[in-house]
Amino acid sequence: PSVPREGELPVLPPDVDRETFNKAVAEIKGSLGEENVELNDKPLVDGWYMEHPNTHDAFHIVQQSELVSSATVFPGSTEDVQTIVRWANKYLIPVFPISMGRNLGYGGAAPRVRGSVIVDLGRRMKKVLKVDGQNATCIVEPGVSYFALYEEIQKTGYPLWIDPPDVGGGSVLGNAIDRGVGYTPYGDHFANHCGMEVVLPSGEVVRTGMGALPGKNGADNPSWQAFQHAYGPSVDGIFSQSNFGIVTKMGMWLMPDTGNQSYVITFPKDDDFEQIIEIIRPLALNRILGNIPQLRNVIQELAVTGKPKSHFYQGKDPMPREVIRSHAKNMPCGDVAWVFYGTVYGPEETRDMQLDIIRREFAKVPGSKFMLPHELPKDHYVHSRVNVCSGTPELRELDWLNWKPNGAHLFFAPITPTKGEDARVVHELVTRLHKKWGFDSFPTWCVAGREMHYIANIVYDRADDDEKRRAIGLMREMVAEAAAEGYGEYRTHLIFMDQVARTYGWNNQALMRLNETLKDALDPNGILAPGRAGIWPKRFRGKGYEL
Ligand code: ADP
Repeated sequence: PSVPREGELPVLPPDVDRETFNKAVAEIKGSLGEENVELNDKPLVDGWYMEHPNTHDAFHIVQQSELVSSATVFPGSTEDVQTIVRWANKYLIPVFPISMGRNLGYGGAAPRVRGSVIVDLGRRMKKVLKVDGQNATCIVEPGVSYFALYEEIQKTGYPLWIDPPDVGGGSVLGNAIDRGVGYTPYGDHFANHCGMEVVLPSGEVVRTGMGALPGKNGADNPSWQAFQHAYGPSVDGIFSQSNFGIVTKMGMWLMPDTGNQSYVITFPKDDDFEQIIEIIRPLALNRILGNIPQLRNVIQELAVTGKPKSHFYQGKDPMPREVIRSHAKNMPCGDVAWVFYGTVYGPEETRDMQLDIIRREFAKVPGSKFMLPHELPKDHYVHSRVNVCSGTPELRELDWLNWKPNGAHLFFAPITPTKGEDARVVHELVTRLHKKWGFDSFPTWCVAGREMHYIANIVYDRADDDEKRRAIGLMREMVAEAAAEGYGEYRTHLIFMDQVARTYGWNNQALMRLNETLKDALDPNGILAPGRAGIWPKRFRGKGYEL
């Protein structure tokens, strides 16, 4: 859809006239302080990852001016968040919470509903509230990035690791509740959170898990970060990938620094992936593979150099296999098809035993080659993987964006069991549809054990409307075709949330009807992030907002 940004700015929230909006803004300025409310009335600037906007999606896939806020508010405390939520209920203004808004590829800082007010928790609520060096836990506010938590832990001197995702500038809390992943044994971020504090859409504050039981003399509960489930229904899950509350504090488990050894295995043939995955499964289930390893297509060896596609190929079409091959053969991993990045943990003796088994098992694939990081050049990508896999945040993954001018990316991320036959179905449809829509295909499997996240990274030029149109077409078709085969995404960009939510439609959308029941009970005025995860409050349902 074409939404020019003309006329009076900022754009207004739905069903709110300018007079009411101005009155509401004056009121919230009075509560939070003039400096903690910013109108979105200036030209939109995409910036870059570390200087990202909090007004719109920096990686716009629709028009830049489509997914925009009316204003951003900056709470400094849980009480401020309560004030904002009560204010939103009074004026029926949708608010969209972000921790830091570096969720690039999934919508960045943008709201799902145009004209929502962004609640940017990260600017002022950015304390590491506690590090328990003995029990290896911490409590963070939304504005704590992986870099900040890393530095804070370094200061304590405890031999503890955090688990960073590919790029370390995002929010620890934001990533966990959006169910992001990393690559150490603690790579399932949501599974390694422990205890939350949440402001509900009514303005009420709750603490989940053991945190619901007050500590002695009003202290925080001593087991809040030690035990996830506590007593009664486990409600933490409903605050992840949802719009049921604003999370203001979260506990995370930290990993003891056990020692680690990363390695790389290359495989020569495009068709090897099924056999590789069949080898991975028992190793992962038996915990011989220490981490969440990645199996990457060789084209990524070109992309992570940070050189543009035009350096390798002048054509506009997807880079032909022979061209990839001709460049790969001059690169450190050579003329291969797949590159496996793994890491083992623990004391040297156990690592060596694991590595022996890993070498032996993967050697069953003819032509495979095992390498340690020191065998690869100093500027090779493996060294940034070593950091990520041993708790040190990185930015190297951003080098991909140079592939295209004005590079932006979008992820297609379906889940399959760790089985070669499922991998083949998804990989074939992704490869075919990327060709059809004219994109290079960058597949990666991240293997957690019984399941794999297949991550297809669509890199597009955000100044090229036709490319954006084709990227959307590609996504929509991949989501639909994968769902027809029984595969669903674990996470998606704002504009695909409705479509993905609908694919989880077993028994006439029973799960969505449950989510809507919860939404209407918790948020009767529909003020909190309407449409997020495809969940629309009754005030918005069926009014043409769904995509
Ligand atoms: P990051 O900076 O880690 O990449 P974001 O802050 O953009 O992540 O968070 C990702 C998404 O998770 C946001 O778009 C938002 O919908 C949701 N989210 C983030 N933080 C919160 C929070 N504290 N409470 C509720 N939802 C949140």
